[in-house]
Amino acid sequence: MDTSSMRARFSKDRNNVRLLIDVDGAPCANFRLREFENPDGLAMVHRSTLESLERVRRELCAMAGEEVWVIITDAVRTHADLQRLALRYGWTDEGGFVARDSKHLVEYGGIAVDIVAVSAADRAHVPQSTLGAVCRKYFDYVKDNYKDGHVHADNRERAR
Ligand SMILES: [Zn+2]
Repeated sequence: MDTSSMRARFSKDRNNVRLLIDVDGAPCANFRLREFENPDGLAMVHRSTLESLERVRRELCAMAGEEVWVIITDAVRTHADLQRLALRYGWTDEGGFVARDSKHLVEYGGIAVDIVAVSAADRAHVPQSTLGAVCRKYFDYVKDNYKDGHVHADNRERAR
């Protein structure tokens, strides 16, 4: 069996587990472990990051008056993942946008996510600056000027 069919065979329900967390006494379970996977299926998320994501989602839904999805485009990375990204996008110290000390790395314990947000009804994107502003209320560090429209958020302080 080749690698790709192995992947197809085993990945269907891999990390297909809802993550339950209390936010202000209310149980929230809007994210699944698989949303935090790297390309090999390794998944890791810090408790504080999950809580911040639920708070961001809740506020975006309240602002819009409708269901808004927070979509995780990238979460935990191994050093090999980082090398692959750097080949494509370059290291920050060489003018690219991949940090050598990325907070996405495994050793930080799942504190970083890259996200976008869309309306559940029509898939319209929440503007990057709006998403960034809401993230700044609930995450320690936010970067929201990437050309592809995603927002980086991490809990480098509260996760210590
Ligand atoms: Zn990021």
